[in-house]
Amino acid sequence: MKSKKAVVLLSGGLDSTTTLYWAIDQGYECYALIFNYGQKHYKEVKIAENIAKLLGVKYQIINLEFPWKGSALLDKELTIPKNRNIDDNIPLTYVPGRNIIFLSIATSYAEVIKAETILIGANSIDYSGYPDCRPEFIKAMQNAIMLGTKDGKINIETPLITLSKKDIILLGLSLGVPYEETWSCYIGEDEPCGVCDSCILRKKGFEEACKSIK
Ligand SMILES: [Zn+2]
Repeated sequence: MKSKKAVVLLSGGLDSTTTLYWAIDQGYECYALIFNYGQKHYKEVKIAENIAKLLGVKYQIINLEFPWKGSALLDKELTIPKNRNIDDNIPLTYVPGRNIIFLSIATSYAEVIKAETILIGANSIDYSGYPDCRPEFIKAMQNAIMLGTKDGKINIETPLITLSKKDIILLGLSLGVPYEETWSCYIGEDEPCGVCDSCILRKKGFEEACKSIK
């Protein structure tokens, strides 16, 4: 049987790694795209690469630059918020246009390798409120891909979009995701900071997942 190809956006974090494992489990032949875009937590690029190698998945590292910065993830002058009350406000760590850009690049790649699917671990439940993770945005991007590509047949799949962090972790554990190999912290030092949005959501997810397993 001819396998179905998918381009998978891989950051080395909990969500994208779970998405990659899910895709493999679904029978996709995966082509990972890893973005090096000037993020302070640059170490995630190496981690994503290690995960792709661990799974024997083909991958490409795309080097991008946002010379105008515009995000605490990119700009040394801006501090990554700590112990933030995660609410509906869009935090300083939002990178303007990031998923629009990443999905556009993934579309180009998918068109060339004739992949029918693009997978992104976007989540709109336990997340930082980034507008480019919302289901409405994904739908609009899907429409743009249909209208803006040769065959108009590339689908964006978001298997995690309505799952809580707890449920993402439970799904990942059932698929054998080695979470100890993943990296979520925005700060990117030797140890996770424990106080950025990404660390807080990860910690909450594991606490809730552990409780539900007991
Ligand atoms: Zn952190």
